[in-house]
Amino acid sequence: MQRLKVFTARRIHTMDPGRPLASAVAVADGRIVSVGSLESMQPWLRRVPHDIDDSFKDNVLMPGFIDPHTHLRMSGTYMGLHYVGPITNNAPDGPQAGLPDRDTVLGRLRELVDATNDPDRPVIAWGYDPGMQGGHLDRDMLDAISDKVPLWVLAYAPHIVYTNTPMLERTDITEETTAHGIGRYPDGRLNGWFIETGAVGIATRPVRDDVYRPGFGLAALRRQGDVAVRNGITTVADLGWGFESFEREWDDHDAVVNQADFPLRMLMIPFDARLVGKFGEDRFAYLDEMRAQSTDKLAVHGVKFINDGSYPSMTLRLNFPGYLDGEQGLTGETPWEDMVEQMLPYWRAGIQIHSHANGDETVDMTLNTLAQLQQRHPRFDHRFTVEHYCISTVAQGRRLAALGGLASVNPYFVHYRSLIHADSGFGPDRSEATARLGTLAEAGVTFALHSDYNLVVGPMAPLTAAWVAVNRIAGDNESVMAPGERISVDRALRAITVDAAFVLRRDHEIGSLEVGKLADLAVLGADPYEVEASALRDVPVLGTVVGGTPYLANDQAG
Ligand SMILES: [Zn+2]
Repeated sequence: MQRLKVFTARRIHTMDPGRPLASAVAVADGRIVSVGSLESMQPWLRRVPHDIDDSFKDNVLMPGFIDPHTHLRMSGTYMGLHYVGPITNNAPDGPQAGLPDRDTVLGRLRELVDATNDPDRPVIAWGYDPGMQGGHLDRDMLDAISDKVPLWVLAYAPHIVYTNTPMLERTDITEETTAHGIGRYPDGRLNGWFIETGAVGIATRPVRDDVYRPGFGLAALRRQGDVAVRNGITTVADLGWGFESFEREWDDHDAVVNQADFPLRMLMIPFDARLVGKFGEDRFAYLDEMRAQSTDKLAVHGVKFINDGSYPSMTLRLNFPGYLDGEQGLTGETPWEDMVEQMLPYWRAGIQIHSHANGDETVDMTLNTLAQLQQRHPRFDHRFTVEHYCISTVAQGRRLAALGGLASVNPYFVHYRSLIHADSGFGPDRSEATARLGTLAEAGVTFALHSDYNLVVGPMAPLTAAWVAVNRIAGDNESVMAPGERISVDRALRAITVDAAFVLRRDHEIGSLEVGKLADLAVLGADPYEVEASALRDVPVLGTVVGGTPYLANDQAG
């Protein structure tokens, strides 16, 4: 060890329950050598030359926050398309205001059509939110704007593409097609919807080069690094590796994330349906090969399954009594009856499964699948993780505990959407009880909080996620949604640090400040354990430290 760098702080929350508080952390070679006080680490300081860095002496340090479910490259790409969403979009050329409702969106699409000078070139837009903007779009509505220029509109939560007739004609879909996720009017006619990953893929094929423009992925990733620093985040996982292209996505991440000055570690979690489609039986060899290329900045982890739709797009699957207006939602690309066979090879190989389940019907299917996997091939410490876990019951939480599963939960919906969906989609009971974290805590399930950024109409801000989980204040800034599902400040802060690390099977490396772990820190302007719980989201984030290197928050980032 050549030299130590010692950061001092007003207070350090280590998230190591054995040694919870400290005032100094000593770092060498990107890792923690000692956590405690300048006094307690004297045995090191006497032996090794060191520099004291007191630039954080008035601040509070925590382990760098972990967002275990994001889509930074893909969403950064969408953020550069024509925008029709309801909230401000931090587009590459500067912020774009949200559009309040469906009529404004249709007006905006009409402007884009009028402005086009090449009627063969599709108009491509992203960001529509059927819940916040007043109901789905459809083919007839879009034909009324143009029956000549192809229109392609991707929902903010990209589980639906809406198309008009000229765009439909560019896909392989005809009135006779029977494919999963192709929407129809009650009279059987195609309604221009492409729902869930398989169908979205079909709709995307003819416009692939317009959506995934060269260089977009690189620029998007760099921009999102600033967003991470501003929110105290030092590690994220990408839960959709392979959506566009395994190679192109890996190359972009390799070029950006592995740069010494990029302030974020990333785990790439491959999407099963694309893995099978591209590599078939060779997928395990491919994963081994890519795992060998992993660094401590960029690594391959687990496998992802998507088993129903999204919360904001209102395409998740519900048990009785279903949707308010008779919608059905949709299952994912892998038929549910094949799920056990499809997951079994990963399960046997010891590859951690991340299973997307938003609605309670899908949670049931997922728990049944986990039970059958355990029956076929019993395993300890499998860390099978239910992703999102938006709409669930108390019984499901207890069963998840009984099966040894984990949950990575999106809590933002409780604040940003639960009031909307009480009267649009899911009904009052399920909307109020969105994200049952209190039940999970009570049942003893380890869980993480995630943002799914930037695909679900909310920020990537772990302290805001913790604030929602602790307070459950709805969008009216008044109503407390399902107060019994609130959790403690400590539990919420664990869910964005050490418990999130556990969910990603990285708790031996990150998530708490302990000797030997990577020196990743969040630098805060106030103590989240000290402020009122209602002010948790207002704790200023000043920056991060990744592997011992400080990054200051840049006020320009989104
Ligand atoms: Zn996602």
